[in-house]
Amino acid sequence: MAMLFMAPKVRSDSWVKHLRAQDCGLDLRVWPETGPADEIEFILCWKHPLGELKKYPNLKCIASLGFGVDHILRDPDLPPGVSIARLVDEFMVHAMSEYILTAVLCHTRQFDRFQQDQFQKKWQTRRPLRPQNVRVGIMGLGHLGADAARLLRLLGFQVSGWSRTPKHVEGITAWAGPDAMEEFLAQANVLVCLLPLTRATQGILNSRTFTRLPEGAYLINAARGEHLVEADLLAALDSGHLSGACLDVFREEPLPESHPFWSHPRITVTPHSASLTDPRTVAPQIVENYRRVRSGLAPRHVIDIEKGY
Ligand code: NDP
Repeated sequence: MAMLFMAPKVRSDSWVKHLRAQDCGLDLRVWPETGPADEIEFILCWKHPLGELKKYPNLKCIASLGFGVDHILRDPDLPPGVSIARLVDEFMVHAMSEYILTAVLCHTRQFDRFQQDQFQKKWQTRRPLRPQNVRVGIMGLGHLGADAARLLRLLGFQVSGWSRTPKHVEGITAWAGPDAMEEFLAQANVLVCLLPLTRATQGILNSRTFTRLPEGAYLINAARGEHLVEADLLAALDSGHLSGACLDVFREEPLPESHPFWSHPRITVTPHSASLTDPRTVAPQIVENYRRVRSGLAPRHVIDIEKGY
């Protein structure tokens, strides 16, 4: 029985090296060199070719190479009864918190404006926003959102969060469910999206959402490009209702050269790098999950297919 690496756009060398380092006897194959399809029990995947996963009759687990599983669930031909597992990794959690903190501080310390001033050789002092006066609202209080919330709180920001079900995070005002969304948005000077991409959250960063934010609010999206209605963001920036945005993820990646986000003076673009998977740190949990599956145990970090995360 074997593990199959199926991530056509990812270089496999480092993955193969670190997975094999966990188990030198590991029967690991790299798609499309699968060998007999009935030998594959575990597929490690990222943006696989749609329809491919149903070809393995003894498949027991599909494991994501990242935190999100939207790239797996978008396949209309998923084999029924197969568990889907995600990654949970503390280094990636820290990396994301660092990214959110950097984006918030660049905004409150007005680094984007300083950079534009520098291009024009303009000496212009600008008073930073004080953390105590900035209310950061985080959409999604899961592994990533809750950690970013704690870190921002430590620096003195007023932090709130919004999730599907009620959550308790020390020092953070938490709202839950669609009915509480308006109240949550109305107080957020900085809106951070760390939601999974699901039917319920697709397009959630739209003009309706932006209108409910206070005048001059700032947007940070480090979740998925499909959360954002891009034209609505451009309209909200052009009207001045939003003061700027920092975006790590896009509907089309790489962001096309002609895309207006590249040259927008109020948008910071980063190339889906907020929190990158490191094969070295996640290989142990992947191989452990493979062993669990082979011994008939349920894998860890299984997602709920109905909920979509
Ligand atoms: P989790 O599953 O741990 O947490 C998701 C959070 O979102 C939970 O608090 C959940 O609520 C909440 N949520 C889900 N659906 C809704 C909804 N309809 N309304 C309100 N709240 C909702 O996810 P992670 O924190 O691990 O990751 C979040 C996403 O970040 C990933 O799915 C991925 O897309 C993205 N990501 C981006 C990376 C990058 O480099 N840019 C890297 C890693 C991840 P509840 O607690 O009630 O379940």
